[in-house]
Amino acid sequence: MADDCIFCKIIKGNIPSDKVYEDDELYGFRDINPLAPVHILLIPKQHIDSLAEAGEQHLPLLGRMQSVAAELARKEGISESGYRTVINTNPEGGQIVFHLHLHLIGGKKLPEFA
Ligand code: AMP
Repeated sequence: MADDCIFCKIIKGNIPSDKVYEDDELYGFRDINPLAPVHILLIPKQHIDSLAEAGEQHLPLLGRMQSVAAELARKEGISESGYRTVINTNPEGGQIVFHLHLHLIGGKKLPEFA
């Protein structure tokens, strides 16, 4: 846990969140500024700054983040229509919150991106 990290505070319950998922190592909640009808953030409980900080030891965790995202997409009813999972990494990748997180976005036709 990092003291000044907003997502660590959400995991601890010090900042409210609209929780949709929790297990021993992951926490999922709805994005406060959704880009689509479904916009969920899935984060590890362990503080990792970004994907750039993850190593081989994190492969099982990263795999679980993708498979839990697929499970949440099924629960949200967007599995067949389609969705996008995104991990923004570092400033030029659009990362604003420096606690590794996966965006699960769907529920509408998403724009193409370069
Ligand atoms: P990123 O640009 O990949 O770092 O995404 C950070 C995301 O966190 C943005 O989509 C924000 O809307 C979202 N966010 C920031 N603070 C909160 C919060 N307190 N609750 C839910 N989502 C948040």
